[in-house]
Amino acid sequence: MTCHNCRTQMVKAGFYGAKKVQRWKCQQCNKRFSEPQPKPFGQDVRLPMEKVSMILRCLAEGNSVRSTSRLCDVEKRTVLNLLKTAGDACERFMERTLQNVPVKELQLDECWSYVLKKEGPKHPTEANDDSIGDPYIYIALSGESKLVLAWHLGKRDRENTFTFVEKVRSATADCKFDISTDAWPAYVSAIDLQLGDRANHGVVVKVYDKPEEGRERYSPAVSLLSKNQSEAGNPDLSRACTSHVERKNGSLRQWCRRLTRLTYAFSKKKENLRAALALHFWYYNFARIHGALRVTPAQEAQVSDHIWSFEELMSTL
Ligand SMILES: [Zn+2]
Repeated sequence: MTCHNCRTQMVKAGFYGAKKVQRWKCQQCNKRFSEPQPKPFGQDVRLPMEKVSMILRCLAEGNSVRSTSRLCDVEKRTVLNLLKTAGDACERFMERTLQNVPVKELQLDECWSYVLKKEGPKHPTEANDDSIGDPYIYIALSGESKLVLAWHLGKRDRENTFTFVEKVRSATADCKFDISTDAWPAYVSAIDLQLGDRANHGVVVKVYDKPEEGRERYSPAVSLLSKNQSEAGNPDLSRACTSHVERKNGSLRQWCRRLTRLTYAFSKKKENLRAALALHFWYYNFARIHGALRVTPAQEAQVSDHIWSFEELMSTL
């Protein structure tokens, strides 16, 4: 260690606190310094690693921001700041790690959510404001390993579908695979343009019954007919299915507090929703044992060789 003032070598001068942090003393100016400690995510986070890990664990396990702040005895603002830092880190980590992953079967779907208010009550002056209203969460799930290969947050339109399929392209390896989507028409051109060389595109069309009187809001409509049709390539239509990714939407609502329907929990800012989603998908892919697989989806897809912890995530980035 060198002194910050005199740039000379210092000598050891005992330990500080219960964690026995090494202290150093400069022999020229007699100033004492503590050895620098690793900071979570390499950023100016002033909480100890254990506390940060506990806060992130609470958020990832489906607690709200307020309940996390009560459980961990920190300010609400601290929880939100950490959520944003961790969300950015998770997004970077996933982009870097999930590249060229070989897949056999891919399922794509969108999940509705809203920020601040729904599209309906928006004021005419807010009509073009994309930061509020109804963004959709696009998810690409691998059918065999249950890994979420790519996700995207944005309006349900051509442009965002294109960006999402672009992300799917960079996440998947250059091999032939089957891709199943719902009947959202923007997928056809986006997949044809960007994944035409590797994907066989099958579309699952579901026709729903009219809900019974009085139960529209609480129960999903009964699916009457499910028809698979081929769009591009030569997909195995008997295997085309979006059931797993639709089940994943269900877990997403269960594990991400701000997506729970018919409650007071909802996002007020788009960047916080984005961070919460990044944290959830990282936790789901790398840190949580999948009930059916008995390992994490990342281990199943051979992207990672162990179960990740938040401490590890904080120190690798
Ligand atoms: Zn000095």
